[in-house]
Amino acid sequence: MTTPADPTTKQCPNCAEQIQEAALVCRYCGYDFVTLSRPQPPPPQQAKTNGFSIAALVLGIVWIYWIGSILAVIFGHVALNQIKQADGRQTGRGMAIAGLVLGYIGIATLVLFIAAVAFASEV
Ligand SMILES: [Zn+2]
Repeated sequence: MTTPADPTTKQCPNCAEQIQEAALVCRYCGYDFVTLSRPQPPPPQQAKTNGFSIAALVLGIVWIYWIGSILAVIFGHVALNQIKQADGRQTGRGMAIAGLVLGYIGIATLVLFIAAVAFASEV
């Protein structure tokens, strides 16, 4: 056991460099003093949720006088395309489909609404 020359420093058990006593991570090698573990290689590409799928779902729900419905359909299709191209690196397919369905329902009610207005003005 070697005593550090400077009391404000400690020795890294991984690379034996003198680092700040309060350091939580070795600045030389990345040794983690919190979990007492050597630096881990970054985890293999984590699947990210596609942003468009979240937008599609939110817009499908908020509706905003059919603007949201139309955008939900557009974003839903963009999201599904991107998720397909990402080849497993992106998630959110369920949300994109939910947004698409809500968007199409919204547009369907718009069509019915226009038809009803047109019918009412005829009579
Ligand atoms: Zn170190």
